[in-house]
Amino acid sequence: YHLMPLIHLSRCLISPTRAVFRSADAVCFDVDSTVIREEGIDELAKFCGVGDAVTEMTRKAMGGSVNFKTALTERLSIIKCSREQVNKLITDHPPQLTPGVKELVERLHQRGVEVFLISGGFRCIVEHVATQLCIPLDHVYANRLKFYFNGEYAGFDETQPTVESGGKGRVMHLLKEKYGFKKIVMIGDGATDLEACPPASAFIGFGGNVVRQQVKENSSWYVTSFGELLKELEKI
Ligand SMILES: [Mg+2]
Repeated sequence: YHLMPLIHLSRCLISPTRAVFRSADAVCFDVDSTVIREEGIDELAKFCGVGDAVTEMTRKAMGGSVNFKTALTERLSIIKCSREQVNKLITDHPPQLTPGVKELVERLHQRGVEVFLISGGFRCIVEHVATQLCIPLDHVYANRLKFYFNGEYAGFDETQPTVESGGKGRVMHLLKEKYGFKKIVMIGDGATDLEACPPASAFIGFGGNVVRQQVKENSSWYVTSFGELLKELEKI
């Protein structure tokens, strides 16, 4: 009868990340290539007819070789999307949820875990995703596009924490302060997600849509499907 606690203990020692995930009070998801299958900004660029130029810049930004704010400014200065184009993109090509994410978020909500979406993408698109996942809109942290009164592109809100490199880490700090979370988990595919831990208590690398080698190598727990995370929650 001494076996059970021993097994439990060893599991915790071998895999602290899994233990933190099972007992987390908040779970934060990256959005592009994590909760949704594609990169929102690339889809927007394609829709506005400047896909190739922007995809290349996104790839560099994801690899962490370019300052995030600079990369965002440069890409948006090429896209220059109007409010109407953004709305039409959401209607004509709504973001595609990654298989299993809806079930996982539902399960976390059932367990009383707070779920957040933390994105370097755009609020108008991320809010659409949040609604589908029953995540309250005040649990969304993302960048805000600005438009002139006539709907033309007018830049982006440079005061949001998510416009800076290291911005997701700042959001983790903010959430700990605001809600008093003890265990907060970040899940994502990119370098900016990995960087958020610490202050996040644990990081889970997600390779279900795209595998970024640097992230994979530096993740103590790397999964390629949300089913793996659901399964983990079934253990006590
Ligand atoms: Mg991502």
